Order: sequence, then C-alpha cells, then structure tokens
Amino acid sequence: MTSAVIVCENLVKIYKVADLEVVALQGLDLEVQPGEMLALVGVSGSGKTTLLNILGGLDSPSAGRCLVAGYDLARMNERQRLFYRRFVVGHVWQQSGRNVLPELSLQENIELPQLLSGVARRERLRRARELLHLIGLETAAQRLPAQISGGEQQRVAIAVALANRPQVLLADEPTGELDSQTAGEILQLLRCLNQELGLTIVLVTHDPALAANVDRVIAIRDGRTSTETVRREAPLPSIPSHLSTASAVIALPSKTHRESVLIDRVGRLQLPKEALERIPFHGRAEVVIASDHVELWPVGSLLNGGPAVGANSCEPREEQP
Ligand code: ADP
Ligand code: MG
Repeated sequence: MTSAVIVCENLVKIYKVADLEVVALQGLDLEVQPGEMLALVGVSGSGKTTLLNILGGLDSPSAGRCLVAGYDLARMNERQRLFYRRFVVGHVWQQSGRNVLPELSLQENIELPQLLSGVARRERLRRARELLHLIGLETAAQRLPAQISGGEQQRVAIAVALANRPQVLLADEPTGELDSQTAGEILQLLRCLNQELGLTIVLVTHDPALAANVDRVIAIRDGRTSTETVRREAPLPSIPSHLSTASAVIALPSKTHRESVLIDRVGRLQLPKEALERIPFHGRAEVVIASDHVELWPVGSLLNGGPAVGANSCEPREEQP
C-alpha cells in the first residue's frame, strides 16, 4: 500500500485529431506524497498540461492508472467527476481570465464555487473573508478583477480554487504572465499555503528560479518523467573532477539540489540530453552491471580497452534467480 495522495502508473494519453494520433503522455509514472509541493518542468509540448488536466478530472486517461486522494480517475462516472472537481482538487490556470469572472467582485468570485456546492450564505461569506485575508486582499473584497493587478488576480484565482477546501491544488503556469518579482510573490503564497495548511500542490513552471523553492522538481520529456531534482539536506561532498553530475536539465545549483534520472517499474529511463550529445551511442549501448552500479558504453568501445574509470567495473554479471 502506498500513502501517496497522487499515483500515476503507466499513464497514457492519446489525442485523436482527424486521422492523426498525438501521444501526449506515453507511460508516465508519478507519486506525490500528502503535503508535498512538486514542480513540473519541461519544454512546451512535453505533456505537462495534459497531465494536470487528467489530475484535475478535466480529461480522462487513454490507458494506465491514475489515483488522486483515493479517486480512480479512469473509472469515474460524470457525477463522481463533478464531485471530484468541486471538492477534491482546485485548479489555477495561467490566464487569469480563466480563473475569475470579470463581472463578479473578488468576494463573489470566491463565493461562487461554494454557491454551486450549496454552501449557506453565512458560511460562504465567512470562508470568502478568511481566504481574502489569507491572500492579503481583505480590503479589496468589493473590487472587480479588472480593478486589481495581474498578480492580485492570480491570488484571487488561488482563493477561488481553495474555496471548497480541496486536498490537492493544481496550478498550470500560474505565474506565466507575471514579471519575475510578482511571480516570486505568488510562489511564496503557494509555499505558505503548502506549509501552513499542509496542502498538496502540483505546480507547472518553466522558471528554474521558482522551481528551486519547492520540495521536488520533476522534468517531463516526451510525455514521460525523465529526471527528478530534490533539495539537498546536507552539503555536497566534493565530486571527483572526472565525473559530472546530470544537473543540466533543470539547471539548479548542484550544491543545493540533487538531480537524478528516473527509472520506471520496467527499467526504462531517459538519459540526459547532455549525455546523448557528448557520447556517441547511435541508439544502443552495452551494459556493464557491477555490484553497485551500472555503466552504459557505446557499442564496441569495451573492446577497445574497456572502462577507463574504476578497475572493478567489469565484474562478472550475476545471474537473475
Ligand atoms: P505542455 O503543457 O507541456 O506544453 P501539452 O500537454 O499541452 O504540453 O501537450 C502535449 C502534446 O499533446 C502536444 O504535442 C500537444 O500538441 C498535444 N495536445 C495537447 N492537447 C491536445 C488536444 N486537445 N488535441 C490534440 N492534441 C493535443
Ligand atoms: Mg501547458
């Protein structure tokens, strides 16, 4: 049994456009623990929004498993889906226009999800005031979205998403349209909500500086998780100069963050682009399994002298039972 609040196993999403099939997610594995703040990064088109839309119950997977807070997203009927979207997850989008209704005041915007869920007026007002206080916009309650700044609108978007007390907050590039200082303030607010309320947050961002402040960063490449970066708890012991660690993907300082390549259940991994560019594999590698590590060599290079580093690297391969 896993205690994870989000579990994706071999998640596949295929979009059909006319006669074409676009594979947006191709066997993605992911686990997120309760109270964790996770950032997803990756180039445009890598599948980040597709994943968030599935986690948010807006889209269903084509294959694979996806469980969020015990809800099986591949098997929900429409009623369950509505309940899930209303109470279990909150969603914040990049475009503030998608998050708030322009003709409603900030307070009414925060009341709306509660109104749709049948919450009584007095409780709606109480919750709206509480959230306005949390986002630092108590005195702006009666203003319209057009009368506040873009950063403030995203704060309201977060409050709207939290109105019905979801367990998980999903934010798809919530700072994408903001300058870097305002973006930093939004991230601080999310971090505070994560720490004070124990809220689980999955955030998509393309900004490494923002990603540096979360617990864990997962890079998505071609619809699959490729690397994971976590903040180091202890300072780094010095790395031998002939080795280089794979910190090129997210480009966070290796003194403070540790990046690793993810290996899925069946052993698939994506080598960092840097490794592919530097070492001419031409599509295949010879595998040397040592007692405590594995080496990948371009085919044929082992014949020409073998491993240059580590005399014990060519120990006989152990037979699998
Ligand atoms: P990201 O958010 O990382 O930029 P997306 O999840 O939006 O990536 O897209 C992943 C891939 O799926 C892209 O190739 C994109 O063109 C395709 N895609 C996304 N949504 C749709 C859709 N509704 N119909 C068809 N193709 C889509
Ligand atoms: Mg996107």
